Amino acid sequence: MPEITFQDLSLAEPIQRALLTKGYTTPSPIQAQAIPVLLEGHDLLACAQTGTGKTAAFALPILDGFARNPRKPFRRGVRCLILTPTRELAVQVTESFKSYGEGLGLKIGMVFGGVSEKPQIKALYGGLDVLVATVGRLLDLKQQGHVDISQVDTFILDEADRMLDMGFIRDIRKIAAAIPQQRHTLLFSATMAPEITELANTLLHQPKEIRIAPQGTTAENIDQHVCFVKKADKPNLLLNLVKAHQDATSKKELSLIFSRTKHGAKNLAKKLCSAGIEADSLHGNKSQNARQKTLDQYKRGDVRVLVATDVAARGIDVKNITLVINFDLPMESDAYVHRIGRTARAGESGRAVSFCSEDEVALLRQVEKLIKRSVPVFPHDWHAAPIEQHHTSGAPAQKPKQGGGGGGKRPPRRGVPRQGGGQSRGKAKSGRPQNDRAPSGGFRKAASGRRSNRSRGRS
Ligand code: AMP
Repeated sequence: MPEITFQDLSLAEPIQRALLTKGYTTPSPIQAQAIPVLLEGHDLLACAQTGTGKTAAFALPILDGFARNPRKPFRRGVRCLILTPTRELAVQVTESFKSYGEGLGLKIGMVFGGVSEKPQIKALYGGLDVLVATVGRLLDLKQQGHVDISQVDTFILDEADRMLDMGFIRDIRKIAAAIPQQRHTLLFSATMAPEITELANTLLHQPKEIRIAPQGTTAENIDQHVCFVKKADKPNLLLNLVKAHQDATSKKELSLIFSRTKHGAKNLAKKLCSAGIEADSLHGNKSQNARQKTLDQYKRGDVRVLVATDVAARGIDVKNITLVINFDLPMESDAYVHRIGRTARAGESGRAVSFCSEDEVALLRQVEKLIKRSVPVFPHDWHAAPIEQHHTSGAPAQKPKQGGGGGGKRPPRRGVPRQGGGQSRGKAKSGRPQNDRAPSGGFRKAASGRRSNRSRGRS
């Protein structure tokens, strides 16, 4: 079958131009399926995760509607409302709308917590065509009368499963009740857990359904390895791997290291810096502005190494991350898939290395169960054979105590906001079976630049 191009989708001319400028010619699978459905005006329930091109899948047809039906926004009003679980994702979605809609002269804004309300209130005053918002701040501003959502005609829930995990279901329903029932509604989620189907049933009208990523798999073009290592040797191994990666790759290529705790992230970044590797950290103890600044510097490649907590595991789209290191294995296995999905974005290839110390054997087993395969062992100078033996023997293994491990922190409990989450209003939902969110389903670009395992990372 001939490959569909963006030209075949007959999007408005300024949008075609923006796509050309960005160098996009071929829609990703989610785009090829969702755009025609949305141009026809159907509601959409899409199972796809960040990294598959889903932002353009909804942004392009929405922008096309604006191009064909220009209307002046009214004071404090909003026409298209997009809810995201985190501030970082809100920034990313807003940037995408701005860049795809560059020639359209639209007013596009965002609101999220953790920063001053004032500039947001000012931007809302004149009315917006597109508002990207996290739930808590939107409700606060609405209650204060700074935003009028009574005439929203397009409502999009992005990463809906994560919003539910973060306990925002009641707030979402409040917002949905305040916007017109006659509207175009789109719901994107990485999983189709029963709660998502239930939410979709109440919010969407005869939606078309699209599923992109098969659940329970990790992107095929990620080279995954595990290093069995004593906890005390982890910093040395880390320095060694990061240095080797920097030596072996171009200046553009970035490394992302995950630490279980905020404190751990900060300390590791310091350690790397004192070893002469420029690094920064991203975690929930930093102010929103500081987080954004760090992320911007990292995106520009000014800092090539970022140590982050799970605040960076989902939603963040940074190009050129070719190495992800799990300095600590995540307490929840689905976080593993999200973390390593920060590499191999948009059809590129990447490498993910996880450190496994004695108390993390249970976590590694949990990951392997989820991804339905064993992670190959990577040989290194600090290899701890007894830990590998423990892992392969199948002998009982305890999960590390919450707050233990790398100084680990509890994952969210009922009523406790998730670390680094969008806001702190919601209750973290517990007990829901977490399906895997596969960062695949992406682009047709050939995986490039893969090197053999042995040629990398070892010094
Ligand atoms: P998303 O899933 O929306 O976060 O997109 C993932 C990445 O793919 C972003 O960096 C987009 O800019 C990029 N992207 C989106 N659509 C395309 C496309 N059709 N061709 C190439 N890259 C794309």
